[in-house]
Amino acid sequence: MANVMNGRQLSRELNQGIVKGEAAKLGRKPGLAAVLVGADPASMVYVKRKGLVASRVGFYHKQVDLPADTTQEDLLSVVHDLNNDPKIDGILVQLPLPSHLDTQEVLDAISPSKDVDGFHAVNAGLLAQGRARFVPCTPLGVMRMLEATGVNLSGMNAVVVGRSDIVGKPMAMLLLAANCTVTICHSRTKNLEDAVSRADLVVAAVGRAEMVKGEWIKEGAVVVDVGINRVEDGSLVGDVEYESAAQKASFITPVPGGVGPMTIAMLMANTLLSAQISQGVAP
Ligand code: NDP
Repeated sequence: MANVMNGRQLSRELNQGIVKGEAAKLGRKPGLAAVLVGADPASMVYVKRKGLVASRVGFYHKQVDLPADTTQEDLLSVVHDLNNDPKIDGILVQLPLPSHLDTQEVLDAISPSKDVDGFHAVNAGLLAQGRARFVPCTPLGVMRMLEATGVNLSGMNAVVVGRSDIVGKPMAMLLLAANCTVTICHSRTKNLEDAVSRADLVVAAVGRAEMVKGEWIKEGAVVVDVGINRVEDGSLVGDVEYESAAQKASFITPVPGGVGPMTIAMLMANTLLSAQISQGVAP
């Protein structure tokens, strides 16, 4: 039976480290701004949770709520103001944006030095070149969880299912930098089962309930489930069939309580890093 990678506990420890340690050494509170456009219920929950954790770790926190019919121009102007606000070290624009808005243009408008979500092309490029600065929070959280297992990733056959700019691609870059041999699978991959069954490490980031079957998992593999899917009975499940996968894996992340809390902890870590860089405490 697999060891469970408890993201809730690890994220609490990491957040505690911020409270007790590095943040206190700075001359002012690190500042995080969250921009929410519209009233999508899931986005509202995520933004609220990020704000709560930010206050818990002692950051200055600001939430900008904009109506669903906000124009591109108005949203860009909000981002511009936050770029120039000296109290703000990190800016996040909660996705998805309403469909009339140009998401890419908005993300491009965030100053790369305040891009604590790591979505700006400059930060994506630095990650691809192996000199990462702000790394997208979800894959960064996965790396922290993997480090906590003590498993040596070097030489592992890693399979990432999903190729989004937010999770799959940066995840693959981080695993490559950790010397894994990386395969990226997506909706056009011909034989997903075959790829997964050869993996020493599987990261599933698809958004389809339990599509990765437990029987595909190689004996002793490490399984990370990024997916969050609400099913008919209202409960949350991941992209991996948990019970059967846990019979074969050496380590596995649960859903909920796995990668999710780590994502928020990494947002705090990136905001702290940004504050440290701006004060010359970090390179
Ligand atoms: P996207 O929808 O942007 O990407 C999904 C990826 O899965 C795409 O690359 C797509 O391929 C691939 N895919 C779709 N169907 C299949 C299939 N049948 N076989 C193989 N690959 C397939 O999603 P995100 O990357 O943003 O998120 C993925 C999941 O992770 C979601 O459940 C999301 O809720 C969750 N998530 C969780 C977070 C957390 O904090 N735990 C944070 C962010 C996301 P193609 O490119 O070909 O379309």
